[in-house]
Amino acid sequence: DARLSEVDPEVAAAVAAELDRQQSTLEMIASENFAPAGVLEAQGSVLTNKYAEGYPGRRYYGGCEHVDVVEQLAIDRAKALFGAEHANVQPHSGAQANAAAMFAVLKPGDTILGLDLAHGGHLTHGMKINFSGKLYTVVAYHVDKETGIVDLAEIERLAVEHRPKLIVAGWSAYPRQLDFAEFRRIADLVDAKLMVDMAHFAGLVAAGLHPSPVPHADIVTTTTHKTLGGPRGGLILCREALAKKINSAVFPGQQGGPLEHVIAAKAVALKIAAGDEFRERQERTLAGSRLLAERLSRPDCAAVGVRVLTGGTDVHLVLVDLVQSALDGQQAEDRLHSVGITVNRNAVPFDPRPPMVTSGLRIGTPALATRGFGAEDFTEVADVIAEALKPDFDESARQTLRGRVELLAKKHPLYADLPR
Ligand code: PLP
Repeated sequence: DARLSEVDPEVAAAVAAELDRQQSTLEMIASENFAPAGVLEAQGSVLTNKYAEGYPGRRYYGGCEHVDVVEQLAIDRAKALFGAEHANVQPHSGAQANAAAMFAVLKPGDTILGLDLAHGGHLTHGMKINFSGKLYTVVAYHVDKETGIVDLAEIERLAVEHRPKLIVAGWSAYPRQLDFAEFRRIADLVDAKLMVDMAHFAGLVAAGLHPSPVPHADIVTTTTHKTLGGPRGGLILCREALAKKINSAVFPGQQGGPLEHVIAAKAVALKIAAGDEFRERQERTLAGSRLLAERLSRPDCAAVGVRVLTGGTDVHLVLVDLVQSALDGQQAEDRLHSVGITVNRNAVPFDPRPPMVTSGLRIGTPALATRGFGAEDFTEVADVIAEALKPDFDESARQTLRGRVELLAKKHPLYADLPR
């Protein structure tokens, strides 16, 4: 029964160092969040030991009476939170949720229509060397070059021309809301199924701060660890008519034994997401990204080639366009890292620089909102980011900005009571 620090000091030291990194820096990767202690506890529980192939009440293993309770709670909470007819909580990740959803309604070679990776789509929406690009015939839609907004006219034109079996709406890097009713209309026009991947904005949907795709889509997939704030994992929602196909596509179609410890953590996260505190946190998330977009749109930023894609945001992230800046995405990411702010570089649509370098940054507010950041703190962090991206940044500026980041981190302690 040795503790981690005794059985494996090397792993224990890396975990402790990671906790320190999370506590002492500002996490602004748009797809990240801090799972609450109750979620961590469920995920670190003895449920990790249990095999439970099948579904609650219909398992291929004995001894499932307790994990059945947990999985049914997760299913019921997911259905209630999102108003869905059916939920499958077993996908190990967002990518596996998408793989299973496609497996349920497509045959190899069928055509899918999804947002181009280079314009904000996800790998699983049809990237060439992803399973989605290898198994299916992919047609990609784009954002408009002038506005940066998803081009619905192009989607309709491509749908009529290619008659996809599945249209995928959803994104990994896009600062606006999609018109799900319009996607539904186009899907119906060509008799396609509509899948919405709400991985990024599921928390906003849960809080009622973003339109829900559930009434419009045949299938909705999501991760549970981004704005939703739970453990790393996936989730599929669908109409009752597709329930059997989705369940058998997940197990035995794509996966073996479900991760019941993670499903327990999903259940906890879904319970939290139904509460008032969660809603208030999502409001601060949105207020924070709007403040950031506003700050980075000011003349002092424009003067040094820093722009905000689409001129603002309706969600939890801001996309910064550095095409006209002396800094590329890699340099900007490194610079923010040097002052204690973690973001990721991200290609902008029509990016002239290579994918490993890019001309953009994706900056998100969910993790800081979870940490307790309010308008005043987000204003300060936006100012630090704007200063860090200026050409006169030097070692003295770096130290000053790092100091301001440290003050913010201290003001909002993270995992202060976590057992070590
Ligand atoms: N779908 C979207 C839109 C995403 O942004 C992501 C993750 O970045 C995924 C799916 C995949 O999730 P995971 O990393 O859990 O496989």
